[in-house]
Amino acid sequence: MAQKEAAVPEAAEAPAPASQNGEDLEHLEEDPEKLKELIELPPFEIVTGERLPVHYFKFQFRNVEYSSGRNKTFLCYVVEMQGKGGQVQASRGYLEDEHATNHAEEAFFNTILPTCDPALRYNVTWYVSSSPCAACADRIVKTLGKTKNLRLLILVGRLFMWEEPEVQAALKKLKEAGCKLRIMKPQDFEYVWQNFVEQEEGDSKAFEPWEDIQENFLYYEQKLADILQ
Ligand SMILES: [Zn+2]
Repeated sequence: MAQKEAAVPEAAEAPAPASQNGEDLEHLEEDPEKLKELIELPPFEIVTGERLPVHYFKFQFRNVEYSSGRNKTFLCYVVEMQGKGGQVQASRGYLEDEHATNHAEEAFFNTILPTCDPALRYNVTWYVSSSPCAACADRIVKTLGKTKNLRLLILVGRLFMWEEPEVQAALKKLKEAGCKLRIMKPQDFEYVWQNFVEQEEGDSKAFEPWEDIQENFLYYEQKLADILQ
């Protein structure tokens, strides 16, 4: 069954903010103001989990040219934290924004990675159904600007409203801020399928690329190159 849990009730019941990786709660306790701020965040409808249902993947991640009906953002993430000794810890999961005021990108920084330990290096990879809106791009730029030990690679299935000058400017700013932005290749969709989509036990199905997957990837890759040139 769907491993879904709403962030809202969890955050409301728990004394500490909901977090997928309990370790970042430790240093939050040393920062009571930050902790208070997190607890007092207004409730928002963000769904988090480890693996998303097959039908969501097939519909939401499909790299169609016109994304009608796809009004949610699905964000799969891998967070790698590297200590001074070279040891690496990783966590992964996905976020989905559901008619919420907070988009999945913003929710990532609010719920999954609210703080970064300055003693660690963070390599974060997102696989997102579509590229960020201008407001989320701005949030990402600000976060990268104040978190020098954070690197972010964003792979997107589609470009969101790329014809808008505002969105194009936002994507350029992302690049200038050091954020790597790529269009998902067929292999990337397969990676998401294998690592982030629910598989029936003992019956994991091979990824079935849709007919125009490569053609659509090339279409969006060219658009992105034109925007970022
Ligand atoms: Zn957004």
